Amino acid sequence: IAKRRNRGGFADYSRAMAAEREESLALLNDLRAAIRGEHDLQLFYQPQIELCSGRVIGVEALLRWRRHGGDFVRPDHFIPLAERSGLIVDLGAWVLDAALAQIYEWEARGISGLRMSINVSLAQFRSASFLPLVEERIRRLALPAGCVELEITESMAMLGADSLIETLGRLKALGLSIAIDDFGAGFSSLAYLQQLPVDRLKIDRAFVTALSQPTSGQPIARMIVDLGRALGLVVIAEGVETAEQEAQLITMQCAEAQGYLYARPLPAAEFERWLAARSLPAAAASAARQ
Ligand code: C2E
Ligand code: MG
Ligand code: MG
Ligand code: MG
Repeated sequence: IAKRRNRGGFADYSRAMAAEREESLALLNDLRAAIRGEHDLQLFYQPQIELCSGRVIGVEALLRWRRHGGDFVRPDHFIPLAERSGLIVDLGAWVLDAALAQIYEWEARGISGLRMSINVSLAQFRSASFLPLVEERIRRLALPAGCVELEITESMAMLGADSLIETLGRLKALGLSIAIDDFGAGFSSLAYLQQLPVDRLKIDRAFVTALSQPTSGQPIARMIVDLGRALGLVVIAEGVETAEQEAQLITMQCAEAQGYLYARPLPAAEFERWLAARSLPAAAASAARQ
């Protein structure tokens, strides 16, 4: 009986695996169609704040996919699939074009001085078409230097190849800046980090969340802020949700922050309204001073 039950268990298991594989394939097919189509993919933008001034200094572009125009599929779900299947190359190109078009439009309309941060995956970064594509787009749009940033993850940065340093160098020569995302979650070689031509460290959300917890507290966030200062890098905290977390980050002299405390990722038009509403009190205050 045990044997039969075991076999049944295995059959259930492989049936479940097959179903999952089928669902993944269907998802990838739909995603491929969405990249070709016009409507199902959209970038949302989450503001980044300079803590000493409260100024909005940039946005992170975050991909949203409405499958068949219906429910959102989580990026945590479809991006790893796209990475494994190679579809990330086309998807990443779509993201790059949409984000650059948006920052170009904002600059043209006088919503200027913002930096656009774009997430890049390892498979995308490694593809032969990546660097030529970025070079072509940046040259064609002639965007001001410093207004585009690429986010690579810490694990990607630590794969450590001369080609990585060279590619980052060429991106920087184009006027782009580079951030290391989810910093502290991987295991960095600090000696190697020092050799990488990067500009910014993004403290992983887990360490920002820990700021609210009395037992785990601050040590890692504080260490990353100090490390950033020692290496001459700007440090930004992601996932800031409470005023208390913000206050602690200010005390540590963390330069920048991003999180639900300020705004969730928003569609472009909503971000513009949020930005306008946020600058109103400041404008009113400076008018009152005159
Ligand atoms: P990430 O790059 O680390 O992005 C930050 C994630 O944290 C976003 O999730 C954002 O919505 C979320 N977040 C921001 N503030 C808060 C907060 O205060 N509290 C909480 N709980 N969450 C917050 P999202 O948009 O679901 O993206 C998840 C991940 O998917 C991203 O992590 C990134 O790794 C990947 N991703 C998103 N868009 C793209 C893209 O265009 N290209 C690539 N390659 N990856 C992307
Ligand atoms: Mg990111
Ligand atoms: Mg992150
Ligand atoms: Mg992440």
